[in-house]
Amino acid sequence: MLANSLIELDRAHLVHPFSCYRSHEETGVRVLKSAKGATVTDASGKTLLDGFAGLWCVNLGYGQESIVEAAAKQLRELPYATGYFGLGSEPAIRLAARLAELAPGDLNHVYFTLGGSDAIDSTIRFIRYFYHAKGTPQKDQFISVEHGYHGSSTAGSGLTAIPAFHAGFGVPYDWQHKIPSHYAYRNPVGSDPQAIIDASVAALRAKIAELGAGRVAAFYAEPIQGSGGVLVPPTGWLKALHAVCKEHDILFVVDEVITAFGRTGPLFACEEDDVVPDLMTTAKGLTSGYVPMGAVFISDRVYNTIADGAGKAPVGHGYTYSAHPVSAAVGLECLRLYEDSLLENGRKAGKRLMEGLRSLADHPLVGDVRGRGMLAAIELVTDKERKTPLPAAADPGRRIFERAWANGLVIRAFNSGILGFAPPLCCTEDDIDGILERTRMTLDQTL
Ligand code: PLP
Repeated sequence: MLANSLIELDRAHLVHPFSCYRSHEETGVRVLKSAKGATVTDASGKTLLDGFAGLWCVNLGYGQESIVEAAAKQLRELPYATGYFGLGSEPAIRLAARLAELAPGDLNHVYFTLGGSDAIDSTIRFIRYFYHAKGTPQKDQFISVEHGYHGSSTAGSGLTAIPAFHAGFGVPYDWQHKIPSHYAYRNPVGSDPQAIIDASVAALRAKIAELGAGRVAAFYAEPIQGSGGVLVPPTGWLKALHAVCKEHDILFVVDEVITAFGRTGPLFACEEDDVVPDLMTTAKGLTSGYVPMGAVFISDRVYNTIADGAGKAPVGHGYTYSAHPVSAAVGLECLRLYEDSLLENGRKAGKRLMEGLRSLADHPLVGDVRGRGMLAAIELVTDKERKTPLPAAADPGRRIFERAWANGLVIRAFNSGILGFAPPLCCTEDDIDGILERTRMTLDQTL
């Protein structure tokens, strides 16, 4: 009864992110009621393994009491402090300092946002301030990668290169450009890692030449493309593109909103790629989804140029909830938990997950298995030889999601037939085995 009335209220009033409004009104909402460890429980009492950590964000798993306590303590002590007027709060300062210590290279300056989209939007603002301060405001063209996702803010949605975020809106803008993705399974140059790197380097060089190096402000890339289908570039890809940017004095922005905080193994995925970007965006795992927060990491060079350029005038960028003390207190506790044992547990669980998913490669529907750490995907096809995708008209994403749900598993099922996995790092061996078993069951029922 309660659930039915909630469904009606949802249908009538709650606008859901990235959803087909009319189909959602028809099917109705699934209400989640509680969660513990790597599981979530819905309003009917059904408990499921969460193979996607909410929206690849609850990296530490659910029910971490120390996070709840850190938030409650901060809420009692000081629920809000602005960063305006030269004010601040202790947790925000301590979190920025600790993150700067842990971040690669000279990413020593941290600007806190509420999530990933406004972190990306903030980088666009900072980069514009940077070039104005340098006296080269004509460097105003931005390049990103097809299949990339950089949020859905008004400006950032155009750096995102997934058509569903553009249809009916009118982005990308004319200052936003794309190069092809490294997507190894469906790359016109084939799957040889060096050929893929060479093709991306050539594409970036060509795009820079087309626009003029003196016009290009920045290049954006994810260490692993998440929402584009968990597309893992060959080792050395990020470093090769970074080198091209350095050569042309173009800022290199790494979007680690999904990949940071243990998702691929280390605290930051770009560490493994041996790349120190000029700016880096994070969110999700920063507070493990318990409260909203994102962070833009800014290098010494970029920060100092902006600061010197502004002189005694304010840099006109800021939010009411930048560096929110409750989020910062949660972030500090999350960092403690990562360092205490959960990064390590995530590495072990990730190894088991990847091995298990690779063992699904012989399944008649599985065309490709890919991933790094606790971020993985399998791509389903109807014909392995021809790599024929599942027919989109049959709505495979929704159907597979529902089957997996019935089997007690939450995964991300893209309509392209890609199944995404991003379980919490707290997963036990049994949790991982359960995710794998339920995935195989779901695939068998999809045949
Ligand atoms: N950048 C990347 C790489 C993301 O995956 C996301 C979200 O999934 C974003 C940016 C946007 O973050 P948010 O949804 O917190 O606004």
